[in-house]
Amino acid sequence: MNEQIESASRASSLTFHEFSCECADANCTESIPLIREYEHVRRVPTHFAVKAGHVYPDVERILETDGDGTRFVVVEKYGQAGVTAVELDPRSS
Ligand SMILES: [Zn+2]
Repeated sequence: MNEQIESASRASSLTFHEFSCECADANCTESIPLIREYEHVRRVPTHFAVKAGHVYPDVERILETDGDGTRFVVVEKYGQAGVTAVELDPRSS
């Protein structure tokens, strides 16, 4: 499945796809241009890509940024937010 996505994106002239920001703000409608990074992030159910500046230190901590930190930030949600993320992840079963 991942290989199919990769070969499809290689064939496309589009370099990036927009993914929704997964920050703790339920009303957030921001999107993030990322593609190859995304599957890497979601390999761990409690890891999420959020837009730079959308980090909520109460429920998550920063794991990594995209180099200059202006595009997206990878966070790990902990506590109840992390538990909920695992329960909701379709890939965790
Ligand atoms: Zn957000």
